[in-house]
Amino acid sequence: MPSTTYSSTRGSPSQKSISFSKVVMSGLAHDRGLFVPDEIPKIDMTEVETWRNLSYADMSTELLSKYIGSDEIPLSDLRSIVTIALSSFRVPEVTPVVKVGGHYVLELFHGPTFAFKDVALQMLGGFFEYFLKKGMNGGRLAVLGATSGDTGSAAIAGLRGKEGVDCVILYPKGRVSEIQERQMTTIMDPNIHCVAVEGTFDDCQDIVKASFGDKEFREEVKLGAVNSINWARVLAQQTYYFWTYLRVTDDPSVPPGSLINFAVPTGNFGDILAGYYAKRMGLPVGELTVATNENDILHRFFTKGEYHRRNINKSISPSMDICVSSNFERYLYHLLEEDAGELKNLMTAFEDTGRLTITGARLKKAKQDFSSARADTEETLAVIKQYHAEHNYMLCPHSAVGVSALIQNNSVDNLSVALATAHEAKFPAAVSMAVPDLPTPPPQLAKLFSMKTRSQTCACDAKAVQDFVKMRIAERVNGGKKKDLGSKLGALAVAVGVLAVLAVVLTRKH
Ligand SMILES: *Cc1c(COP(=O)(O)O)cnc(C)c1O
Repeated sequence: MPSTTYSSTRGSPSQKSISFSKVVMSGLAHDRGLFVPDEIPKIDMTEVETWRNLSYADMSTELLSKYIGSDEIPLSDLRSIVTIALSSFRVPEVTPVVKVGGHYVLELFHGPTFAFKDVALQMLGGFFEYFLKKGMNGGRLAVLGATSGDTGSAAIAGLRGKEGVDCVILYPKGRVSEIQERQMTTIMDPNIHCVAVEGTFDDCQDIVKASFGDKEFREEVKLGAVNSINWARVLAQQTYYFWTYLRVTDDPSVPPGSLINFAVPTGNFGDILAGYYAKRMGLPVGELTVATNENDILHRFFTKGEYHRRNINKSISPSMDICVSSNFERYLYHLLEEDAGELKNLMTAFEDTGRLTITGARLKKAKQDFSSARADTEETLAVIKQYHAEHNYMLCPHSAVGVSALIQNNSVDNLSVALATAHEAKFPAAVSMAVPDLPTPPPQLAKLFSMKTRSQTCACDAKAVQDFVKMRIAERVNGGKKKDLGSKLGALAVAVGVLAVLAVVLTRKH
């Protein structure tokens, strides 16, 4: 089967029918739109049944091959990319589906950084390396990202040691939690560069945006992005919806084909969008619930049709603190029945006014596609406390927002799944407000506090950051060459030495 091609949501003619590899390497389309599949592959449920006994990696390979044909990645290569990516998870099921309090919890936090973003970023790192080795982008890619915490560490864990890739992560100095900072700065691979910017997260994001807008810089360092809009992330995240469907219907009392409901803690709409595509492929998905914290632009959209921007409230689930959702445009495009012209008008108006409103049949359709719920700090803490007391189960503040949505929607049953997006030990300050005696953190997190760290402080200035990036990349490219030459000379010296010894031995014999 040939690969699915992609086009920009904003319809520019040069951004149509683009291959998977180009889409992965470029991230954002040149017309500022997002890439969406030209056709969503349909899946045959009798085939999905044949995946029931496969490992997570093998099941994922089958699923991804519906989008990525052997013309772009031969099946055996795809299998090895996926298998290597998932081998960094600490449990063989990768994302265990466990029964808690009458419903299921999908545990997405068993990867290297203890949050769900690992599933996609481990695979994205594999895709980058694969395409660079094939010579794309001149064999080199510099990834520049800004983080307020979770994305940076997951990106670093996915890209460390990857050939041809340099990864520069900007974070606001003194404004990320110590665990999150250490998850980034204790990684010593030479291709990882952490920069503590003397500014806020928004300043960091502005520097990233300015750097992408700077053509000269972009081309000089071969810049790429790993933010949540990369299609490969949405694609990789579809694997756990299929995995969960299979695990829930392993229960003999739940016949195959039963509709499974998912409640998803949502910020940039990437995680839940994967569930939407899985449903469009034909997976039996019932309700998809958008669960938000106080930053509830998505909840307001799915209840009132109002996608109206407001300022950010700092919450106890910081990875969902957004004022606009970067993946929302993809769903809006489908809601508008793939009308790129209208999408572009709506998004351009939104960028100017901060307001986008839908009504009538469209709002009705949006409400059929998604339900939504919102949990504030008090509700979130109450759920953490309740699950600990009644089920001896710890939820992180993000996961608790998802569970709260299930409870609010009266969906606590054996067909419903709440996605648990992070391990509670990453957010001890928030969780201890609900459960004062926290369980011992996993050793991988506890040991971060005694490890060596490395980070560069930088002024809050795009030029200063760009100079640093240029310098580090030049060092790496030249340093790499020197080292290559050095090791070649070294090997030559050894070879000469061995020959000399042999010669001596041989002469002596005679
Ligand atoms: C990123 C993140 C989310 C939000 O996911 P989106 O794809 O942005 O909706 C939720 N929980 C945690 C722990 C995260 O890191």
